[in-house]
Amino acid sequence: MKISAPKGTRDILPADIAAWQQAERLFASVCTRYGYQEIRIPTFEATELFQRGVGDTTDVVQKEMYTFDDKGNRSMTLRPEGTAGVVRSYLENGMASWPSPVRLWYNITAFRYENVQKGRYREFHQFGCEVFGSEGPVVDAELISLLTLFFKEIGLGQTSLRINSIGCPVCRTAYNEILKDHIRPHLSTMCPTCNDRFEKNPLRIIDCKEKQCQPVTKTAPALLDHLCPDCQTHFDGLCHQLDELGIAYTIDKGIVRGLDYYTRTVFEFVSEHVGTQGTICGGGRYDGLVESIGGPHTPGIGFALGVERLLMELAAQGVATDAAPVPLVYIAGIGERAAAKARQLAYQLRQAGIQAEVDLMNRSLKAQMKYASKTGALFTLVLGDDEISSGTGKLKAMADGHEHPVELDHLVDSLQHLHKTHP
Ligand SMILES: [Zn+2]
Ligand SMILES: [Zn+2]
Repeated sequence: MKISAPKGTRDILPADIAAWQQAERLFASVCTRYGYQEIRIPTFEATELFQRGVGDTTDVVQKEMYTFDDKGNRSMTLRPEGTAGVVRSYLENGMASWPSPVRLWYNITAFRYENVQKGRYREFHQFGCEVFGSEGPVVDAELISLLTLFFKEIGLGQTSLRINSIGCPVCRTAYNEILKDHIRPHLSTMCPTCNDRFEKNPLRIIDCKEKQCQPVTKTAPALLDHLCPDCQTHFDGLCHQLDELGIAYTIDKGIVRGLDYYTRTVFEFVSEHVGTQGTICGGGRYDGLVESIGGPHTPGIGFALGVERLLMELAAQGVATDAAPVPLVYIAGIGERAAAKARQLAYQLRQAGIQAEVDLMNRSLKAQMKYASKTGALFTLVLGDDEISSGTGKLKAMADGHEHPVELDHLVDSLQHLHKTHP
């Protein structure tokens, strides 16, 4: 029986790994420079965490979660996102007593039972940040600047920042009535999900992707035009902070984000590249989330960045990403004594931090050289009886065929020198 990877999953093969590692390294580096600390959370959590933390009325919870009963009959769910788990950890580990704000970053896989399409998988990767303990908007702007710097360093262009405010419970209660007045006359023409959400969570109706609902959602009044004074001040503050940092943005009243826990600031980085338009990264403030998971009132803000989407975007924009590293040297041996010497030298080089390869297949010299060329090795060194008795050899640069005499005892130094001087 042939077994394939489950639909919506995929293998990330060695040829693609360098680009992944580059993104991971850069993200960790930027986060560290901002004072964010890495956190690692479990792959699955109690289902209730996501029902409370992501929201019962969201698509994620209603339609997309991988939920199962474990052998102890507890309902468990593979995390569909990172924030709820990080909040759970924040509470469980007493991070409220850490110096504020608590700033965390993560690199996780997440799971959603979604329709599989280009760049969208059922098991996918997210980089994310969460900040607890500050109302902002200074924190909001810092978080956005972190992403801006990450995109800059990885070389992502043709991307715009869109920001919006979706207010607080105070302004949202008033706004919900205005929104419902707008929707009510058209409810009978709208999809069952929208009808279901009309009383429970009318704001969610604005995200509805059903064609029949578009005429109503597109003309809906914007929450940004109905903010309470505190939320208005907060939003003006964010705009001011971004201006001070020289970060360009567009105010987009249409951004509401797909999760229930957001308050005030919401933002997206959107690709403007022809053919790949769409959201690369989204986030927002969630001042009510910690409370809804059972903690004290704690302001927070975060984002999640789809790594598959990011790498797809970089490729579409023709941005060069790291290629798989190649051996600096391949050492070929003719005969058993030389092969043993080759293995010893390779061990020395590897201890010195140099990527080196030797024969492991008992190949002929010709086959060894063919293999060396396939690995992309920059130099080759052929050892035979003469080289071993004289303690010298010739490092051949594969790019131009030029040969450099070396003493085998000084191979590390010679290679390091040649690597620097030989393009
Ligand atoms: Zn408000
Ligand atoms: Zn609808």
